Amino acid sequence: MESNSNQSSVSFVKIPTIKFTKLFINGEFVDAVSGKTFETIDPRTGEMIAKVAEGDKEDVDLAVKAARQAFDHGPWPCLPGSARARIMMRFVDLIEENVEELAALDTIDAGKLFSMGKAIDIPMAAKALQYYAGAADKIHGEVLKMSREFHAYTLREPIGVAGLIIPWNYPSIMFVWRVSPALAAGCTMVVKPAEQTPLSALYYAHLAKLAGIPDGVLNVINGYGPTAGAAITSHMDVDAVSFTGSTEVGRKVMQATATSNLKVVSLELGGKSPLIIFDDADVDMAAQLAIFGILLNKVKLFSLFYAPNHYKGIYDEVVKKLVEKAKAWAVGDPFDPKVQQGPQVDKKQFDKILSYIEHGKREGATLLTGGKPLDGKGYYIEPTIFSEIKEEMLIAKDEIFGPVLGLAKFNTVEEAIKRANSTRYGLAAGIVTKDINVANTVSRSIRAGSIWINCYGALDYDCPFSGYKMSGFGSWTRSP
Ligand code: NAD
Repeated sequence: MESNSNQSSVSFVKIPTIKFTKLFINGEFVDAVSGKTFETIDPRTGEMIAKVAEGDKEDVDLAVKAARQAFDHGPWPCLPGSARARIMMRFVDLIEENVEELAALDTIDAGKLFSMGKAIDIPMAAKALQYYAGAADKIHGEVLKMSREFHAYTLREPIGVAGLIIPWNYPSIMFVWRVSPALAAGCTMVVKPAEQTPLSALYYAHLAKLAGIPDGVLNVINGYGPTAGAAITSHMDVDAVSFTGSTEVGRKVMQATATSNLKVVSLELGGKSPLIIFDDADVDMAAQLAIFGILLNKVKLFSLFYAPNHYKGIYDEVVKKLVEKAKAWAVGDPFDPKVQQGPQVDKKQFDKILSYIEHGKREGATLLTGGKPLDGKGYYIEPTIFSEIKEEMLIAKDEIFGPVLGLAKFNTVEEAIKRANSTRYGLAAGIVTKDINVANTVSRSIRAGSIWINCYGALDYDCPFSGYKMSGFGSWTRSP
């Protein structure tokens, strides 16, 4: 590893003062009804950053009541789309004015790279809000041709109160991507950030109020999934739920939405996305895509990787490059601009990843590099690469959601397709080849929501993003 700067106590930027730690209900920051709080932890050290109000069912009830009132009687759904757009654009400006603070909050709360937050996550969040502000006055229906006596039309209406439940891996992007289309459509909402990362969500709530979003339209309830999250999914006055998180919890969300009021639900769930490298691939590009896909902080797009073993020795070449890159990958304090990978989000995730690594070793996969935590404080894990992974191994089947890459070989295109489809997930896949016929055949044959050819992670707001199989269904945004 190039840098083990988790040992260092040097601060590369000014750590923000934590201003918002309560629940945000009906335009006000308030304590939980129970008065309970929970600790949010800095994964760089394992130490507490702040105590945050812990919302539960009573708080969700209050937030839903405020959102219902703002939907049924408030101005928001009835405003002309252009008026909602103007307010949303003020929100965009405020996000852009607070990029550093928002990025720093995600760095201390989630261990995300500060440089990426500043250059990518927060600007992307602002752009998403801007995109949906642009859509707010372009929501139309259709005039339908019936028999001559009748005239019919459809009208796209806001669905009502939306429950938005999000994970920790992209606290800012997930918050804004879920909130933006709901705001544009005229919905009101209750957002539950992940318990690991509540801080930026509360800051966005503050900015939304400053921008002029009316009270009750956007509410934020921090808290745990089985309490606050479940209270949202089973609430009789919530009309729709957008859930982003694990497949395991996605099942519970679907059950709760079905057994309550059959609310509309969209699920963006786990993934185990293959990157298939063909024998004509540019070796350096292939290794770079694989390394970025799996090791870039909190990204989990390519967790399996296949390369052929029958031609020109490309497998050995790609693996050599990959291992070199992984060894040079700088792990350390996510505020350090030279660092490429920060800590894992919390102790639970850290232990889970290490236990998968132990499984991999026990199951007979070959450990090429990494496999250990870094010494010292914080939840840092070395970039880890296994080769010779077999379909039946746990590390091949389960989503690890950490810096662990598994390599396997194939001999024919058919075998690569079969292997790529053998996962129960279907979020994304990547193909590296110069042969357009191979690219077309393979991309049409893999059952995954997004397939990238000779690139990785390309997303745009005009592109829908959604899974196949156990990666979920429905696209809350038409975009990522
Ligand atoms: P998680 O499923 O544990 O939690 C996600 C959210 O659901 C959190 O806010 C949590 O508090 C809440 N929750 C937990 N139990 C709940 C319940 N019973 N009812 C309602 N809400 C509940 O996932 P995580 O560990 O926070 O995030 C990692 C997972 O998210 C991974 O599986 C990852 O693949 C997935 N993810 C998917 C996408 C996508 O676009 N498909 C994007 C990001 C993350």
